[in-house]
Amino acid sequence: MDTELEVVVIGAGQAGLSTAYHLRRHGLDPESDFVVLDHAPGPGGAWQFRWPSLTLQTVNGVHDLPGMPFAETLGPGVDAVRAADAVPHYYGLYEKRFDLPVHRPVHVSMVGDRAERLAVETSEGTFLARGLVNATGTWERPFVPSVPGAERFAGRQLHTRDYRTAQEFEDEHVIVVGGGISAVQLLDEISCVTSTTWVTRREPQFREKPFTPDVGRDAVAIVEDRVRRGLPPGSVVSVTGLPVTPAIRAARERGVLHRLPMFSEITETGVRWADGSEQTADVILWCTGFRSSLDHLAPLRLRGAGGGITMTGRLATQVAADPRVHLVGYGPSASTVGANRAGRAAARELTQFLNR
Ligand SMILES: Cc1cc2nc3c(=O)[nH]c(=O)nc-3n(C[C@H](O)[C@H](O)[C@H](O)COP(=O)(O)OP(=O)(O)OC[C@H]3O[C@@H](n4cnc5c(N)ncnc54)[C@H](O)[C@@H]3O)c2cc1C
Repeated sequence: MDTELEVVVIGAGQAGLSTAYHLRRHGLDPESDFVVLDHAPGPGGAWQFRWPSLTLQTVNGVHDLPGMPFAETLGPGVDAVRAADAVPHYYGLYEKRFDLPVHRPVHVSMVGDRAERLAVETSEGTFLARGLVNATGTWERPFVPSVPGAERFAGRQLHTRDYRTAQEFEDEHVIVVGGGISAVQLLDEISCVTSTTWVTRREPQFREKPFTPDVGRDAVAIVEDRVRRGLPPGSVVSVTGLPVTPAIRAARERGVLHRLPMFSEITETGVRWADGSEQTADVILWCTGFRSSLDHLAPLRLRGAGGGITMTGRLATQVAADPRVHLVGYGPSASTVGANRAGRAAARELTQFLNR
């Protein structure tokens, strides 16, 4: 049986929960007007899958969801709490507190058009909605650049997403590829137990000064401009730079942050640069980022000639080519604070659009 309703939200991470909270405030009934569908086993969005050593002290900071402070859900010794425990705990309580209609595990395989409605095909049947808020994040689309010879490598290749603990690499040589915050954090951890090589495409830009709201706003503005022009969102760290935390300063003093440019080839035993120099390795760890999980939206043909989806609306959450569809946690809103704001803007604009 198909279920007809006003709005389907896909994803119950920070972006989906913020949207759901604001849809309620705009008068949508969680019993009959909207659902939040998520295929993960429990609350927490992508946070439930993050590696054990990522704690509330080492993350950039998880912004409060609207109406309920994160700190309220934490006990003493907060800084050391694993992000993969604390954030899911918070989101779970949040869903209950606001009685949000989260259905899980429900996998959305495809969204198409049917008789003026959006047909959301799921593992639990089809939902026919007048509006859609997509909040599926990036965690499920790890990006690894294509490098000649990658299939020849006899060692192990893994992505940030697969990382659990540095101890599993003891006595192995690890090449860490990537210039983002995760790359530097994992390089720091791994270099405490074994030898490492650090490779980045561009010269890393370290930021000695604190991360001010202005720096954040500038980064968001650049990404927002790109998606309004229909370009793929691009990386925020290229704008914000890498924060020099005490751990990073210590790693620098240990001589670990000596960076090499990107290699041109992968061999059976390691990597080779264009000048012929080589490094043998047992492991290549790709900390090369993520792309947005949007494959299930392909039938809607949202992508334009620029290779991205042209976005519009107050915070660029609305798809220009299909105003029934909002993307939150996408591009400029791919942070916990951005996801919060995007959820609010999307809920308001979508309910206004549907009530026209
Ligand atoms: C290692 C790492 C550390 C980070 N640290 C910080 C930080 O400190 N501060 C910060 O602000 N941001 C941080 N970010 C970015 C931040 O995690 C995100 O911007 C934000 O939490 C993402 O929220 P989201 O709701 O967009 O996505 P997610 O949390 O990824 O939630 C998406 C949800 O959609 C569901 N889903 C996906 N596809 C489907 C489907 N087809 N059907 C059904 N359900 C689906 C998933 O199960 C998931 O629950 C970090 C990112 C990474 C990778």
